[in-house]
Amino acid sequence: MASPKIIIIGSGLSGLSLSLSLSNLLPAASIKIYEVRPSTHPSTSGTINLTPNGLRVLDHLGVYKSLIPQGFNFDNLTMLNHQLDVLASIPIAGISEFEYQSLRIERRLVHSALLQKVQEKSQVEIIYDSKCESVEESDAAVTVRFTNGTSATGDILIACDGIHSVVRKSFVKDPKDFEPKYTGQISIGGTITKSQIQEYNVKNTPYPIMMFGPEAGTGANFMIWPYNRAGDQFTFFTTLSKPEEEENWNGFADKQNLKSIMQETFHAEDSPWNEMVKKTVELSDVEGYRFWPFYLHSIPEKFYSEKARMIMIGDAAHAMPPSGGQGAAMAFEDAETLAYTLAAGFASNPGESGLNTPQGLEVLSKWSDHRIARMRTIQELNKRMSDMRKGSTGSTSGVMFTVKVWVIWLLGLLGVLGRTRRAINNYDARKEAMGWLAEGAIQAS
Ligand SMILES: Cc1cc2nc3c(=O)[nH]c(=O)nc-3n(C[C@H](O)[C@H](O)[C@H](O)COP(=O)(O)OP(=O)(O)OC[C@H]3O[C@@H](n4cnc5c(N)ncnc54)[C@H](O)[C@@H]3O)c2cc1C
Repeated sequence: MASPKIIIIGSGLSGLSLSLSLSNLLPAASIKIYEVRPSTHPSTSGTINLTPNGLRVLDHLGVYKSLIPQGFNFDNLTMLNHQLDVLASIPIAGISEFEYQSLRIERRLVHSALLQKVQEKSQVEIIYDSKCESVEESDAAVTVRFTNGTSATGDILIACDGIHSVVRKSFVKDPKDFEPKYTGQISIGGTITKSQIQEYNVKNTPYPIMMFGPEAGTGANFMIWPYNRAGDQFTFFTTLSKPEEEENWNGFADKQNLKSIMQETFHAEDSPWNEMVKKTVELSDVEGYRFWPFYLHSIPEKFYSEKARMIMIGDAAHAMPPSGGQGAAMAFEDAETLAYTLAAGFASNPGESGLNTPQGLEVLSKWSDHRIARMRTIQELNKRMSDMRKGSTGSTSGVMFTVKVWVIWLLGLLGVLGRTRRAINNYDARKEAMGWLAEGAIQAS
């Protein structure tokens, strides 16, 4: 039985889910996760949406069922124009068609459920307050150095250190080409309760709601999304165009400033927006405001290093724009498919400490090619969603806006948006991995 020493950098959603899948498939492996954050604050905040493809992985890990009562479970997303007219009701998920509903939930709850499972595994250890500074691979091992002066050596290292990955820099010939680049979009959001705004939902439209406005200058989109089981706690957010990148985004740390931007955008005297949006902004508590600038980086040709001792997954490999709502789901897909790949790779390399053999490289390259192809598909969808949220910049006549509204309506009518969702939701990471790996090899591990 293979007993590799595996190092994971980062205990975010990809790092934790990977360690769980690996511990199930490689029970003799030793897994050490190094995390820059302190153990007292292991997760970032905010809410995320998880679609069936991501939830399926969490189900395989025995985590999903505990999350159902902690978040908002739903099937459809209602798209409206800025005057509350329905454009389309998009099937996002649903048990009969996709086995799972979609789940909007606080990110820290997903993180905490994964962490709890990891803590039950004696072969997995998390070392906090450890910031990876550099990594280096040789024919025999991989070594990671931390800013606190310590180092660690293992057989395989998996980069799960997010969009600003330090490890990614050592994969690629010219690290500058793979630096995160600002996309020119930011997101600002806050929280509100149903009881505060329901009277302004005059058509009693079911939540979650995605609204499209006429001009970028007056807000091009506005989302209202429940995130608890009862559906009475809402997060609201918008994606705004902001072409200039700020050096440190310090001005956006001020929550009052964030609320003011939202008021100027959606609540100006001549604002075309409906009362529900205006009241959401007006009544929202300043303390609930959050801000994210969107960054992306180029996807490398392959997700593993020259000597196959370093591999990357999640945002470290392929950050996704948050507007597509697929980043975490992709991280989970990566993690599960990679765990099966490593299990098969080690099983086909008895006596070897790594995967730098023809058999090892074969499974690894199949995994990498497959994941890159999947990324491209998802990126295309994300781009479509992101384009829809942009305003009809430059148009004051409203013609472009009318066209956009009709396109959304037509796509909904023709079921095109629903079909695209099926391509995302029906992905079963375990089945996919089985598709390119010899099942016998995995069981032999
Ligand atoms: C505003 C916003 C909304 C989003 N909404 C959704 C959504 O609705 N649905 C969805 O699926 N996805 C969403 N995403 C994307 C999703 O959050 C990410 O894709 C996902 O968290 C990626 O997981 P990860 O583990 O790869 O990276 P991360 O979550 O970034 O985790 C990286 C971990 O590595 C640690 N780390 C970083 N550097 C180092 C270092 N040098 N040494 C040691 N440790 C290190 C970090 O502290 C962190 O714990 C959203 C993202 C944003 C910003």
